Amino acid sequence: MLNVKAYAAPSATEPLVPLTIERRDVGPKDVLIAIRYAGVCHSDIHTVRGEWGPITYPQVVGHEIVGEVAEIGSEVTGHAVGDRVGVGCMVNSCRECEQCRAGNEHYCLSGNTQTYASPDRDGTITQGGYSTHVVVDEDFVLRMPEALPYDAAAPLLCAGITTYSPLARWNAGPGSKVAVVGMGGLGHLGVKIAVAMGAEVTVLSRSESKKEDALAFGAVRHVATGEEGALEGLRGSFDLIINTVSAPLDMDAYLATLRPEGALVNVGAPPEPLPVSVFSLIMGGRSFAGSNIGSIRETQEMLDFCAEHGIAPETELISAAGVNEAYERVLNSDVRYRFVIDTATL
Ligand SMILES: [Zn+2]
Ligand SMILES: [Zn+2]
Repeated sequence: MLNVKAYAAPSATEPLVPLTIERRDVGPKDVLIAIRYAGVCHSDIHTVRGEWGPITYPQVVGHEIVGEVAEIGSEVTGHAVGDRVGVGCMVNSCRECEQCRAGNEHYCLSGNTQTYASPDRDGTITQGGYSTHVVVDEDFVLRMPEALPYDAAAPLLCAGITTYSPLARWNAGPGSKVAVVGMGGLGHLGVKIAVAMGAEVTVLSRSESKKEDALAFGAVRHVATGEEGALEGLRGSFDLIINTVSAPLDMDAYLATLRPEGALVNVGAPPEPLPVSVFSLIMGGRSFAGSNIGSIRETQEMLDFCAEHGIAPETELISAAGVNEAYERVLNSDVRYRFVIDTATL
């Protein structure tokens, strides 16, 4: 066992505190990563506060992890000591089901092993990236291209792949019109990636406050949806809508902005069910869909794509001690656009 420093939630209601945790010994297929940076995802907050179900405490979260390989197991072939690597939302899967065999381990039929708060193969509960080190099976470790900024790339591993995957699957590209609903951690990357794919991008966000940023990221248009009747003028406009908002919206009003056979794909997840009129789907043959992160192969493809196109998340670097304040600011949408913890401060 390795004793390593971390920042952990002692309970659902207390702030995160420094804690020493154990990492497993490096097995034959394992990689020991010296973590340099860890992104702060809204899911981290939901999880530690028990909002997505009860968890075991203390719990370390963080699933946007970037660092260097510090040690490899005897059978590791894909990574070498010193390599710059990343870990996203999952660290293992069953490897045997139809989805795993097809390379869709994110849709593993028995559920993939999440990077934190998930039962690991050895029966322990996985502990995430707000830590100095982590041990991960090499098949779930990504190569971080040198062209990506070391301190800012971490959010690609959750927010980046979450938006890249549906954009790729629904063929965003030259000639397609894409709308991104909500421009936070996920949305701002969705805009940058869709623009790089060649799509014409519109940002639909509540107020005018992020308009300048939206246009700077390459969107051709920004519509403030908080204004009465804002969506009316957009009827039949888009081939694809990526909805990153995790609060309930008037789905029928958004579906009406799709062209015939267009798709509205949800990546934000409000806890309560959303009403949708089936007529909104039937008229125009529209699809109402969802998407969850991406496979390891696709995550590597996304990282390489971002490196090639000079795409990096907009981040604010914080110390570990600043994470509790950062949580409050995330909840107030007061971050442009992702906090990243410098783990040297742990
Ligand atoms: Zn996340
Ligand atoms: Zn599986």
